Amino acid sequence: TATLAQADPEIAAAIKGELGRQRHEIELIASENIVSRAVLEAQGSVMTNKYAEGYPGARYYGGCEWVDVAETLAIERAKKLFGAGFANVQPNSGSQMNQAAFLALLQPGDTFMGLDLAAGGHLTHGSPVNMSGKWFKAAHYTVRREDQIIDMDAVQKQAEQVKPKLIIAGGSAYSRAWDFKRFREIADSVGAYLLVDMAHFAGLVAGGVHASPVPHAHVTTTTTHKSLRGPRGGLILTNDETLAKKLNSAIFPGLQGGPLMHVIAAKAVAFAEALRPDFKVYAKNVVENAKALAETLRGHGLDIVSGGTDNHLMLVDLRPKGLKGNISEKALVRAAITCNKNGIPFDPEKPFVTSGLRLGTPAATTRGFGVAEFKQVGGMIAEVLNALAQSPDGKAPLVEAAIKERVKALTDRFPIYQ
Ligand code: PLP
Repeated sequence: TATLAQADPEIAAAIKGELGRQRHEIELIASENIVSRAVLEAQGSVMTNKYAEGYPGARYYGGCEWVDVAETLAIERAKKLFGAGFANVQPNSGSQMNQAAFLALLQPGDTFMGLDLAAGGHLTHGSPVNMSGKWFKAAHYTVRREDQIIDMDAVQKQAEQVKPKLIIAGGSAYSRAWDFKRFREIADSVGAYLLVDMAHFAGLVAGGVHASPVPHAHVTTTTTHKSLRGPRGGLILTNDETLAKKLNSAIFPGLQGGPLMHVIAAKAVAFAEALRPDFKVYAKNVVENAKALAETLRGHGLDIVSGGTDNHLMLVDLRPKGLKGNISEKALVRAAITCNKNGIPFDPEKPFVTSGLRLGTPAATTRGFGVAEFKQVGGMIAEVLNALAQSPDGKAPLVEAAIKERVKALTDRFPIYQ
């Protein structure tokens, strides 16, 4: 019966500290968001106590009648939200959803294609340090040097050369539209499966402001915690019944044991939220805000990789200011503007240094920031970076402290978890 504060004051204090951090910083990490109270409540529920290996109606444990209700609702809502014939809501994470796709579609040693990490791909799309790159042969496509956009003719040519069993579209730091139809044509022309990992932009697809990969891909995967604004986890969609069975077996018993039923309940809550009309407005605002932020930063003399954004994120090329990603990230974090350093395509710097920053609008849009606020945010980022560019030791304490005060005033106007 003890509360967390009574039972474990150290952890309670850490959680309180984290809440304070989230309240008084501007969250620009493109993969993060701020979930609703309802999502938090479902995730922090008694469903965490339940073992439910298997799927609704076919479990290996008794007492599953209520978790079956939750998982069935999650499945039905996910199918409706994305217009898919089949949904698996059990992946514990984005990495596991992609592992399941590999397990269902490939044999170890098979060749597949994915976007190069340095051009915005994800670790699970064939990085040599990831299982996908160790156990499978990854051939990476990349972006054009001149405009930093994926060259679909080059993808076609590469596919004809390497004859992949699978092609992955989607990534973590690519700000431009994906031509899903063309990807499918290329996959079909070489007899490959098409997997679209829409983890980053799934909320935009759900909100109807981004093309949907679901009609084109054999398999679509997404995390549920980024622009989709749900609990941390993964989701797999397909319209192919045979693949659906293989994907189910790949998740359980292939990769996972007992599903996280509290997380699945929270996924169901998030999917219901994303089905509501106000989520369409949210998604539209996320995109408008990203354009406003990108334009503001360009106006202050920074470059945006590929010249702009079609989605919720952008890569800032810091080279016009002579800055590196690592020191810029740290200075912005000291000013309570949270973001991450990120390599840019053909980056001359090492991955721990980088020439870029990745910025995204989903979290701050959730707390109510609009175009006016994002223009202010762009101005504040430019002030910090300009001060940093003048400073020989990689710090600009006076400007950082002044911006931190302004961030506090701005975030106080848009409170979260009141
Ligand atoms: N796929 C993409 C495109 C991602 O951006 C991420 C997140 O980093 C993942 C998969 C992996 O998700 P997770 O961090 O939940 O394993």
